[in-house]
Amino acid sequence: MAEQKVKSPQAPERYEDTWLYRIRHSAAHIMAQAVLEMFPEGKVAIGPPIENGFYYDFDLPRTLTPEDLKAIEKRMRQIIAGKHPFKKTVVSAEEARRIFKDQPYKLELIDGLEEGGYDEYGNPLDEKPEISIYQHDTFVDLCRGPHVEHTGQINPSAIKLMNVAGAYWRGDEHNPMLQRIYGTAWETKEQLKEYLHMLEEAKKRDHRKLGKQLQIFTFDEEVGPGLPLWMPNGGILIEELEKLAKEMEYKAGYERVRTPHLTKEDLFLRSGHLPYYAESMYPPMELDDGVRYYIKPMNCPFHHKIFASVPRSYRDLPIRLAEYGTCYRYEKSGELFGLMRVRSMQMNDAHIYCAEEQFEEEFMAVIAMYQEYFDLFGIEKYVMRLSTHHKRGLGKKYVDNERLWLKTEDMVRRAMTNGNVPFVEVPDEAAFYGPKIDVQIWSAIGREFTLATNQVDFAVPERFDLKFINREGKEETPLCIHRAPLSTHERMVGFLIEHYAGAFPVWLAPEQVRIIPITDAHVEYACKLEKQLRAEFVRARADVGAERMNAKIRQAQTFKVPYMLVVGDREVSDGTVSLRRRDGSRQNNMPFGEFMSLVKERIATRSAEL
Ligand SMILES: [Zn+2]
Ligand SMILES: [Zn+2]
Repeated sequence: MAEQKVKSPQAPERYEDTWLYRIRHSAAHIMAQAVLEMFPEGKVAIGPPIENGFYYDFDLPRTLTPEDLKAIEKRMRQIIAGKHPFKKTVVSAEEARRIFKDQPYKLELIDGLEEGGYDEYGNPLDEKPEISIYQHDTFVDLCRGPHVEHTGQINPSAIKLMNVAGAYWRGDEHNPMLQRIYGTAWETKEQLKEYLHMLEEAKKRDHRKLGKQLQIFTFDEEVGPGLPLWMPNGGILIEELEKLAKEMEYKAGYERVRTPHLTKEDLFLRSGHLPYYAESMYPPMELDDGVRYYIKPMNCPFHHKIFASVPRSYRDLPIRLAEYGTCYRYEKSGELFGLMRVRSMQMNDAHIYCAEEQFEEEFMAVIAMYQEYFDLFGIEKYVMRLSTHHKRGLGKKYVDNERLWLKTEDMVRRAMTNGNVPFVEVPDEAAFYGPKIDVQIWSAIGREFTLATNQVDFAVPERFDLKFINREGKEETPLCIHRAPLSTHERMVGFLIEHYAGAFPVWLAPEQVRIIPITDAHVEYACKLEKQLRAEFVRARADVGAERMNAKIRQAQTFKVPYMLVVGDREVSDGTVSLRRRDGSRQNNMPFGEFMSLVKERIATRSAEL
C-alpha cells in the first residue's frame, strides 16, 4: 500500500490511520478464523481492509453458499464476544515458515517479505519490512497490523458479510481461482444501516440500468464490447456538456483544435507511448509500403505538433489548445464496465503550454475550473490527490530527471497550498512525464468516482523539441499541463446519471417539456405550444398519442421530464398551461408567456432548480 502524506491542514485523514481501518482489518482476521473452523483443511491467502469494508481470499474444498455466510457471520459474533486480544510478534522468516507450513499462499508471501520489495499482501514495497504475525484466539496471520486491542472493540451489530466472488491468486488468471468473501464493518449499527441503504440506492441509480431505461446509451454485440452507442437522449446530454465546456474554456482563453484519429507509429514513438503504452493501444494497421498506423489512445502528441507548427514567443504564452478528442484504448473485456470502463471515449482534453513563471497561475486556473464544475453539478465532496514520483522508478516508470521531478512537484505543492486547496499526497503514482492531480468525487448518495486528472508534463515538450523564444531572446522549452476536468463523456454521463438518479436539471434534461392535451380537441393548442417552445430552443414535445391523459403523465414521469404542461378547454381559451413539475408540485392556469420565461431562465442560468 502506498504511503500517503497529508500536506495540508484541511486534508482528509488517511484511511490507514483511522479506527475504522483497524476495525475492518481485525474483522477480516476474525472472519478467517471462523472460515478455518468450518474448513480446517482450508487455505488462506490475503485479507486486507478495503474501502467500506474488508475481504479475505480462501482456497476451500467446496463453494460457499449464502447459508455458510450466515453461519460464518454468527461465529464471528461469538469470537467478538470473547474479547480476545490481538498480539503482535516479530518473527524470522524461518519461524514464519514453520508457523505457516500448511499454508502455501502464506509461504509464497513470506518469500516476498524475506527478499524485500513486497508486503504481506504481495504489494510492492520500498524497504525490506520486518516480518510479524498477529494472533487473536486461535488464529494467526502474517500481518503488520494495525488492529484493535481486542475483538470486543468491534461492534457485533455493525458487521455484515456481503457476498462471495471468485478472485485469482495475485490477480493472475493463470493462478488458482480462490473464493473471496466480502464483508463490511462500521462503528455503529446506524452507520451500517446507512451504508446498506446507500448500496440499495446505488443499485437503483446504476447508470447501466437507468441509461437503458432513459434511452441514453446502448451496447450492441455486433458493434463490440466497450463501444457505446449514444441514443438521441445521450446525444443531447453530450451536446450540452460540450457546450458548457466550450463556453468555460472560451472564457478562460482556450482555443479549439481538431486532430485525426489515426497517426503514424513515429508520433507515438516520439511521445514515448510506444512501446510502454502499447498494451493499452489497438494493434497497428499497415498502410502505404509497410508504414504502421495506430488509432490514437490520447490527443496530446497531436496538440504538441500544433504547438510546434509555428514559431512561438513568450508573448504568445500561455497557449491553451482544447479538443473534445475521441480516443480508443484497449481495455481487457473482463475490465469493461458500463460507461465507466470503455474502449472508445471522448475526452474533455486540453493542453496548456506555458513558461515556468506562468505555471502557478495556469495550474490554479485549472483547479478553479474544476471547482466551478463541482458547484454547478452540486458535487459537495471531493478530494484532490497529488501523485508524485519515486526514486526507485527513475528511468523505468518515470522520466530520469530527479531535479525536474522535485522541482515540478514542489511547484504543484506550492500552488495547491497557496490556493488553499485540500489535497493528499501519494508517492509513486505519478504519470511517467510528471506529477499529477487525481480528483475523486462523491455522488449525491456518497458513491465514489475518480473523474479527471490534471497533469504537469516537464518531459514530453522536450521530446517533441517544443520551443519558445523567451524574454532574453533565447530558446526555452515550455511546461505542458494536461487537463480534463469533465473527464470523458462516457465517465461523466455515467457519473451524472447516478448522481441525479436520471432526474437531470432542466438545462441538461434530454426532454425539458412534455405537453399533454386532455382530449383530441386540445391537440392543436398543444402542437402550437410545442412549436413556440422549440422556436426558443426549448426541448419540448407534444404527446399526441392515443393513450389517455393519465397514461401520458406516467410516461413522462418514467422519462423524468422536468416539466409537464397539461392543456384542456380552460387553458386553450385563456392561453395558459397547467404546470406539473417533476417533483409533483403544480401550478394551474399559468400564462404560457410566464412559463416560457421560467424555462428559458432555468436553461440560461443552468439552474439546479425546477
Ligand atoms: Zn492482517
Ligand atoms: Zn495530454
